[in-house]
Amino acid sequence: MDYVTLNNGVKMPQLGYGVYQVTKEECERCVLDALEVGYRAIDTAQSYFNEEEVGNAIEKSPVNRKDIFLTTKVWIEHYGYEATKASVLKSMEKLKTDYIDLVLLHQPFADYYGAYRALEDLYEEGKLRAIGVSNFYPDRLVDIASFARIKPMVNQIETHPLNQQIEAHKWLEKYGVIHEAWAPFGEGRGNMFNNTILRAIGEKYNKSVAQVILRWQLQRGIVVIPKSTHQERMAENLNVFDFALTDSEIQTIAGLDSKTSAFFSHQDPAMVEWFVQMVEERKGK
Ligand code: NDP
Repeated sequence: MDYVTLNNGVKMPQLGYGVYQVTKEECERCVLDALEVGYRAIDTAQSYFNEEEVGNAIEKSPVNRKDIFLTTKVWIEHYGYEATKASVLKSMEKLKTDYIDLVLLHQPFADYYGAYRALEDLYEEGKLRAIGVSNFYPDRLVDIASFARIKPMVNQIETHPLNQQIEAHKWLEKYGVIHEAWAPFGEGRGNMFNNTILRAIGEKYNKSVAQVILRWQLQRGIVVIPKSTHQERMAENLNVFDFALTDSEIQTIAGLDSKTSAFFSHQDPAMVEWFVQMVEERKGK
C-alpha cells in the first residue's frame, strides 16, 4: 500500500474502499470482505445511511481499529456549528469509535463555515485526526483554504479518465490539499470499463481497465476509493501496486478528458435547488 501525507503530517492510505450505494443489508459483509482482502481505509458518509453497518464490520473484523483509516462526511442538513458537532458525535457512536480519521463536509452549500468551525474544534479536541471538504471546486476551495483557521487536508471530488480535474488539481496542489477521487471509474459511465484505449494499455501489463484507471490516478498523487460489492473485484482493485504506467501512456490517457462531469455540475443552480429540496424533504422525517 502507498500512503499520502496530509498537511498536518497524518498518513492516509492512497487506496481505500467506498461504500456509497452499498445497501444497509450488504454493507457489513462488504466492509468485512474489503478488510479481509487488505483494504485499510473505508469511506462512508452520513448521507449513505450505512455508518452503523460500517461500525459493525470494524468491530467484528480482526483488524485493529487503529490500523483502519476511517472517513465520514457531514450532510448539509447537519450544517451550522452546533448541528455539525452533534452530528459528528452521533456518527462516532454509529461507527463505534471514539475518534474518526477524517471528516469531510460533503457539499459546499448552506452554512458550511459554521460546520467547518465545528470540525476545527473537534480536530483540536483530538476527536478527528484530519478534516476536509468534498465537492469544493476551485472557487470554493480557495475561499475556505484562505479564510478558515485550519486549512482543509483533503478535498474529495469527482475524478476519472473522462473528467480528470487537471485545473482543480493545480489549485489543490497550490493550497497543499490532497486530491481524493470520488467515482474513480465514473461508476462505469461513458462505457468506461470497455474503453478501447484503456483496455489496450492494460493488455500490456495483463491488467484490467479498472486497474489501469486506479494506477493512473495513483501516479497522479490522487487518493482513490473504488466501490464494489464483489470481493473478487475488491481484490482486483487493490492489486495495482506491482506495475507502473509510462509517461507516454499517461499522456494517452490525458487525451480522454472531456473536462465535464459524468454526473452533474455543482455550479448549476437547478442542482443546488435539488439539494435544497432534499434537505426540505428529509426535515419531515
Ligand atoms: P465507482 O467509480 O467506484 O464505480 C463503482 C461501480 O464500478 C460499481 O457499479 C461497481 O460494480 C463497478 N466496479 C467496481 N470495480 C470494478 C471492476 N474491477 N470491474 C468492473 N466493474 C467494477 O463509483 P462510486 O460512486 O461508488 O465512487 C466510489 C466512492 O466514492 C463511493 O463509494 C463513495 O465512497 C465516494 N463517493 C463520494 C461522493 C461525494 O460526493 N463525496 C460521490 C460519489 C461517490 P459492483 O459493485 O457491482 O462490483
